[in-house]
Amino acid sequence: MRMDTLLAQVGNRKDPVTGAISFPIHHSTTFAHPSLGQSTGFDYTRTLNPTRKVLEEAIAELEGGCRGFAFASGMAAVSCVFTLFRPGDHLIVSNDLYGGTYRLLEQVFRSYGLEATYIDTSDLNAVEASLLPSTKAVFVETPTNPTMKITDLQELCRFAKRHNILSIVDNTFMTPYLQRPLDWGADLVVHSATKYLGGHNDVLAGLVVARDPELAERLYFLQNSIGAVLGPQDCWLLLRGIKTLALRMERHQENAWRVAQWLSQHPLVEKVYYPGLETHPGYDVQKKQSKGFGGMLSFDVVDERLVEHILSAVRLVTFAESLGGVESLITYPARQTHFDIPEEIRNSLGVTNRLLRFSVGIEHHEDIISDLDHALTVSGSVLERS
Ligand SMILES: *Cc1c(COP(=O)(O)O)cnc(C)c1O
Repeated sequence: MRMDTLLAQVGNRKDPVTGAISFPIHHSTTFAHPSLGQSTGFDYTRTLNPTRKVLEEAIAELEGGCRGFAFASGMAAVSCVFTLFRPGDHLIVSNDLYGGTYRLLEQVFRSYGLEATYIDTSDLNAVEASLLPSTKAVFVETPTNPTMKITDLQELCRFAKRHNILSIVDNTFMTPYLQRPLDWGADLVVHSATKYLGGHNDVLAGLVVARDPELAERLYFLQNSIGAVLGPQDCWLLLRGIKTLALRMERHQENAWRVAQWLSQHPLVEKVYYPGLETHPGYDVQKKQSKGFGGMLSFDVVDERLVEHILSAVRLVTFAESLGGVESLITYPARQTHFDIPEEIRNSLGVTNRLLRFSVGIEHHEDIISDLDHALTVSGSVLERS
């Protein structure tokens, strides 16, 4: 069955007792044992919950893996994955990545002896050069956040296999509708399902999918031992969101392409980062490995002083952190998502004080563009007067 069909049918035919189309929310924390030594398959909700099970099976199928795991947040999912490693282990990590993942590695896992090298993983030579005898995995985002660099997943996973290390992909920006890293040979996929999978800015959640049963078994042990599982109500919200993913992603990326084109022509915009523009250095690789270019873009304005005026002049687009919901959101990475990355590192990555990140929503594209037009015009004239 095709991806659109799988998505729409998520959770259906999973409850033979009632035939519920929308899978029920099982709030029960514990489940009765028929007799000593017997179980319905469910004992205690941290270990296994019926609603969470349906979600975990769904994401495993959508990503083409053997097993899925649902967590209380994207960071809980990433943390659980990092506990696969031991003191002295080393990871190769995309240098332009979600600020929270950087913070987790540097300010939490480093003190437990996990080492990380941050490099531009779109450059395979740089990946090769950072390999150490203690390297156990490569962790990438593609496209990266927020400068939208593209890593060739096939090449990267071949490299990982050659050196017997794990390849882990944060697939939050693309979702399985547009990109399936396991098909290119990745071992693990992680998601902040808070973003496109949930899609409505109303649920915080994380997901992990494993390709092979042995790794899945270790993850299951860690998920249950650490206990940062997703609650049943939130599992249901996520199942509900996932059903419309195909429609939403199509609209997000159509709008993003139009906004990217429009911004590229604007005199107050210096540079647009969107992998769907043919001028983007990762355009060909993205085209090869994904079904589309997604709904995220970033842009540099010509003058840092424009930023605060733009953020207060937008009326439809909302100035807020996060991404992937139906509403258009604009973010200032230097002060928000990437605040924990030191300024000189940020600047060298292109996450400057002039960079804005835009999560293009599913509103009418003309309304989005006219709001940006208004905000840029107002900001430009304030600057001229000052
Ligand atoms: C938001 C995000 C995370 C963290 O997820 P939370 O659900 O906020 O904990 C991780 N990776 C990426 C790419 C993200 O955008």
